Amino acid sequence: MNEISIYNTASRRVETVVPHEAGKITMYTCGPTVYHFAHIGNLRTYIMEDVLEKLFRFAGYEVHRAMNITDVGHLTSDADTGADKMLEGARREGKTAMQIAEFYTKAFFSDCEKLNIAKPETVISATSCIADFIKLIEILLEKGYAYLSGGNVYFDTSKVKDYYVLTGHSADDLLTGVREDVTEDTNKRNKTDFVLWFTTSKFGEQELRWDSPWGFGYPGWHIECSAISLKHLGEYLDIHCGGVDNIFPHHTNEIAQSEAAIGHEWCRYWFHPRHLNDASGKMSKSKGEFLTVSLLEKKGYNPLAYRLFCLQSHYMKQLVFTFESLDNAASAYDKLKGRVAALKASVKGGEAADGAAVKEYHDRFIAVVGNDLNTSLGLTLLYDVLKADIDPATKCAIIADFDTVLSLDLLKDRGEDGGEDLSELEELLIKRAEAKRNRDWAAADAIRDRVKEAGYAILDTPEGAKLKKL
Ligand code: AMP
Ligand code: ZN
Repeated sequence: MNEISIYNTASRRVETVVPHEAGKITMYTCGPTVYHFAHIGNLRTYIMEDVLEKLFRFAGYEVHRAMNITDVGHLTSDADTGADKMLEGARREGKTAMQIAEFYTKAFFSDCEKLNIAKPETVISATSCIADFIKLIEILLEKGYAYLSGGNVYFDTSKVKDYYVLTGHSADDLLTGVREDVTEDTNKRNKTDFVLWFTTSKFGEQELRWDSPWGFGYPGWHIECSAISLKHLGEYLDIHCGGVDNIFPHHTNEIAQSEAAIGHEWCRYWFHPRHLNDASGKMSKSKGEFLTVSLLEKKGYNPLAYRLFCLQSHYMKQLVFTFESLDNAASAYDKLKGRVAALKASVKGGEAADGAAVKEYHDRFIAVVGNDLNTSLGLTLLYDVLKADIDPATKCAIIADFDTVLSLDLLKDRGEDGGEDLSELEELLIKRAEAKRNRDWAAADAIRDRVKEAGYAILDTPEGAKLKKL
């Protein structure tokens, strides 16, 4: 089995992923909070997680992956202060929290589809597994890791041996992050304790509440990921994913409560893609232009150009989004599609791919991209294939293979993805190049006229002939 390495936040270095069970990867992804559309920053994280999952499959691993949908109880700031995001969404749109959740869950998966992000095998909404949360909280109370105070159930972080295992922070570091406008919850024994179950909170109007042994209420935010992961992926999780903002407090609290419940190490590898920021320094869902997939489409971009933009840089580097850099990615994407279309058109009928060459490039792709998910080097390898002295049928087979991970629809005709089908015109460009090589100027001119009739001009550029809409 081929080795794949990633940067592991827990060990603070790049490590080869050695799964708990050989050949089988369990992977958990923190899902979206469905109170609004996902912005393209959120989607960068899901794109990189998608590539990681597909790369493991590509390398021959069996992958089991689960993701939650946060449709209750996500608070806008640390642990149990701030505003409730779902309530915020419901108020903003004059709908119920469940209507909001349903609408934005659909919108999220529709964006994912446009970006070729595959849906994880298991997707579970928080509100559908309240009984599992209650069971887990009962275990934490029984084992002495949780306490009741002021009507709520809290996790006692002082009972955990190494609460900061993920971040290497100390309690003192944390204090610098505490905002002055946040009022201290006096029910807590320790500053870092967090709510497992609310029956009283400042969100008196919380619509979604359930019966529990501690009264009518609702779960805290962190419990859902531990409960869903333990239930669907077992007590030994290989990889846990989420954006870098999830490291503290969310993942720190997930580790504390999961390991308290099971009594041993829970997850070995923590994968945290860095953020996508706009020029102002932060993606926002409320201020300025709200960067969504639909907005990109409205402006005429193919969502897959955005996927390519993400693949061009390393997931551990912050990425700044500008329309100028998206324009560059879009033009690179168009060129790439054009080159692959021309390649496809040049495959002679009956020509078979060379299996040994496909296998060789398959292994090279894993070696390159499997080294800390170096997607940009994976793209370089793709361009190398296009340039290589290999027959067109084999090249197409290699590209189709790479595209199971890159998911850029490289071999799909443009007409198939809703855009204009230019493959016929591109074939004409190839024929024209051939005619010019043969000094058959009349044939070349005739092709130019045919292309013109179809509404396109031919531009001769150093990279070859290109189509330009008239
Ligand atoms: P949320 O819907 O707020 O729970 O976020 C969904 C996912 O997006 C989480 O994994 C976050 O860590 C991640 N995320 C939030 N903001 C950004 C950003 N600007 N860039 C990349 N990922 C982000
Ligand atoms: Zn989570």
